[in-house]
Amino acid sequence: MHRTERLYTLQCTDSELDRVSRRLREIKASLGETEELRQARLDLEEAEKALHKLQARLRDLELENAGLGDKIKANEQRLYGGTVKNPKELTSLQEENAYLRRRRSHLEDVILEVMIEVEEAQERADGAQKHLTQVEEQWRVEQERLTAEQAELQDKLHALQERRQTLRAAVPPDDLEIYDDLRRRRGGLAVSILKEGICQGCQMSLPSSKAQQARQGDVLVFCGSCDRILYAR
Ligand SMILES: [Zn+2]
Repeated sequence: MHRTERLYTLQCTDSELDRVSRRLREIKASLGETEELRQARLDLEEAEKALHKLQARLRDLELENAGLGDKIKANEQRLYGGTVKNPKELTSLQEENAYLRRRRSHLEDVILEVMIEVEEAQERADGAQKHLTQVEEQWRVEQERLTAEQAELQDKLHALQERRQTLRAAVPPDDLEIYDDLRRRRGGLAVSILKEGICQGCQMSLPSSKAQQARQGDVLVFCGSCDRILYAR
């Protein structure tokens, strides 16, 4: 293998390592609970809270209504039972009865309204539950996919690291120094392919003499524009 070819092979391995490491970092950030999942759970909690509040209100109203019914019953027994003879007392009982019936009629209207509200709140809670189930299912599938990808990439990472070590061991220390320095300064890309006289690292056209030199591969030829080591296949 020529000097430049060795560096180019090392560059390919390093670039792949960079890509794998980047993806692993992305996966790590995506593992765990998502904002969407947290929000869906919160929405359900709130919908259930609202539903329970309305259900409690309805129970209270129904209890009140039952109490009112008992009162009306007792009142009517006295009114029509024949035990009360005093006209004044009878009038008073009639008035109370009319008042109680008005109250009950109003209460029944309120109960109907609250029943509709309970029904709507139940629908919202059911919807929120359905949404949460969907989000959880999607999340679970996604987490499984990410975990599998992570395991696969970790294996790849180890293989690439080993390959990198082997490749580096075969490169002269001086070349390695130049290579590492260029990688640092040039966004991870130290070796650039020279294709049809154009440096693929910076897209600059190079003189044909340089291209020829690069093709020989036994001396390091640098791009005049981006400084990268040129590799001509
Ligand atoms: Zn260049």
